[in-house]
Amino acid sequence: MSAAMIDVRLPDGSTKQVPSGATSADLAAVIGPRLAKAAVAAIVNDRETDLLAPLSAGDRVAIITADSDAGRHVLRHSTAHVLAQAVLQLFDGTKFTVGPAIVDGFYYDFELPGGRTFTEDDLVTITQRMNEIVEANQPFLRSELSPSAALTLFADQPYKCEIIQRVTAGSADADDAGEVAGGDSVSVYRNGDTFVDLCRGPHVPSTGRLPHFALMKVAGAHWRSNEKGPTLQRIYGTAWESKAALQEHLVRLEEAEKRDHRRLAVELDLLSFPSELGGGLAVWHPKGAIVRKIMEDYSRERHQNGGYQFVYTPHLANANLFETSGHLDFYKDGMYPPMEMDNGTYYPKPMNCPMHCLIYRDRQRSYRELPLRLFELGTVYRYERAGTLHGLLRIRGFTQDDSHIFCTQEHLADEIGSLLGFVLSVLRRFGFDDFSYKLSTRNVDKSIGSDDMWEQATTALRAALDKLGVQYTIGNREAAFYGPKIDIDVRDAIGRKWQLSTIQADFQLPERFGLEYVGADNQRHRPIMLHRALFGSVERFFGVLLEHYGGSFPTWLAPVQVRVLPVTSAHEAHVATLVAQLAADGFRVDTAVADEQLGKRIRAAKLERIPYVLVVGDDDIKADSVGVNPRGGEVQRDTPFTSFVERLAADVREGSGR
Ligand SMILES: [Zn+2]
Ligand SMILES: [Zn+2]
Repeated sequence: MSAAMIDVRLPDGSTKQVPSGATSADLAAVIGPRLAKAAVAAIVNDRETDLLAPLSAGDRVAIITADSDAGRHVLRHSTAHVLAQAVLQLFDGTKFTVGPAIVDGFYYDFELPGGRTFTEDDLVTITQRMNEIVEANQPFLRSELSPSAALTLFADQPYKCEIIQRVTAGSADADDAGEVAGGDSVSVYRNGDTFVDLCRGPHVPSTGRLPHFALMKVAGAHWRSNEKGPTLQRIYGTAWESKAALQEHLVRLEEAEKRDHRRLAVELDLLSFPSELGGGLAVWHPKGAIVRKIMEDYSRERHQNGGYQFVYTPHLANANLFETSGHLDFYKDGMYPPMEMDNGTYYPKPMNCPMHCLIYRDRQRSYRELPLRLFELGTVYRYERAGTLHGLLRIRGFTQDDSHIFCTQEHLADEIGSLLGFVLSVLRRFGFDDFSYKLSTRNVDKSIGSDDMWEQATTALRAALDKLGVQYTIGNREAAFYGPKIDIDVRDAIGRKWQLSTIQADFQLPERFGLEYVGADNQRHRPIMLHRALFGSVERFFGVLLEHYGGSFPTWLAPVQVRVLPVTSAHEAHVATLVAQLAADGFRVDTAVADEQLGKRIRAAKLERIPYVLVVGDDDIKADSVGVNPRGGEVQRDTPFTSFVERLAADVREGSGR
């Protein structure tokens, strides 16, 4: 009769029976037809596995579906195999290297014979060949080889041989581990008659599961990111679980392109990155500076009301300070090189924290002063590799809205709780209302401090998130060296996530700086320190806002809020009185004289994304009215000037006016 049945366990703790030797694909079918269709891989006993690997009695099995992050990762990586297969078929003599899944897609790096480079036409040809491979629905077949057999199999592929040699020599390099597991055998995957790639898997069961992909672009790359190594050609692609998901992604990319803050910053004359200044350093033009000043003013006002005390600290410090703080031990790669002077070594500061510790330590502190909340818009300098710089989002000199809170153990949970509320309320004012949270925990190999300290801090952060009643993810081993933290991501107008705010508990710096307070018991105690950046950096936050709003800042932030246009030069004198009146009321207003046609001047104002354009003609002068031309809205003629001013004031007050 039928084969013996075995029990496998599902993530919810329940058990299902499948025939012995059945696969996760069979299990998915047992659970339901919808799951069977969506399944792309499985997690068996905590390891990602091919759907077609046989199960054993007692296995714990979770099915990975195509519409999950893990499922898309498998789809994308499997599509990278198909890309390599097509390229190797089409371009004889190609050497192929690695093809990982990345955020929203995948890439594969190739060395073409004779230093040839891929063209746009090549991408079309490669796409056609990939479609044929998908059409053929070739199964991905896994096998394991001894290292020497693998070296023979890939004899004409030097990059693959290098990986095999490194892995079998016990390389701990993440790049290698991503390709193939170490040990005395290496795994390879075949699909079609001739294509085989070195890989640890897992993959979708067959190429027929990969129809929704697109090749995006070609870029130069280097083997192992080593700029002295051989130059490679990298093809980027994206792959999704459905045609609709792919389409949405492509539309989102197009929209993101239009919103690129580097482009908008130039178009709207907000700021620039002059090459004379060096990479990753910006200068702010008057229009960008106005927006920045409003952001900073608002931040200062909220901090003042939130019980913070303002401080200022210098941009340079003696190396001793960063030895005490531990930055020279743990953060040196992120610091600018030192300067020698006065027989001492000085560094530009990468963080403000050590200096705030010095302010705390300057005199004896009593428990009555705690929580002591110090705030500074503090400019820091961090070394980023030239290749990683990206407009305002990754920059070498920037200003943090940096706060350090010194409190007692008893204060910790409450303080973090109210801090979270404060952060969210400020972010909402800037138009964000979709947040996600991550709690990062200790990396034992790269941290200072006792188990106890870490445990206490992590518990307090977790309690604050639980009290807020929100879902959060755990960033395993992702904390900084000095303490666990909460990261807050926001989702922008086109659905992209940005990491902005951080709340970080720290038991370590108070220890290193010997910070103390005198408690109610008249004894000396060590305070706990919280680091908190809300915008992250003013520059980065500005870049994110610019993309979020697509350059159309809400009225309260807009560099110019109102432009008043005379229909002809006969109306200019009256317009001047309106402009003066609005300016006196504190609005940012200008005009454009009637030396060009009205339509042209209105179009120019729209290109500048000005929230309100007012038009003033003969009738308006008689009636003290204006024609109101709101950004993205309908024109309203004959609006009494006073009611426009009320509307404008309400917009600014409420932070609206998009
Ligand atoms: Zn693979
Ligand atoms: Zn700090």
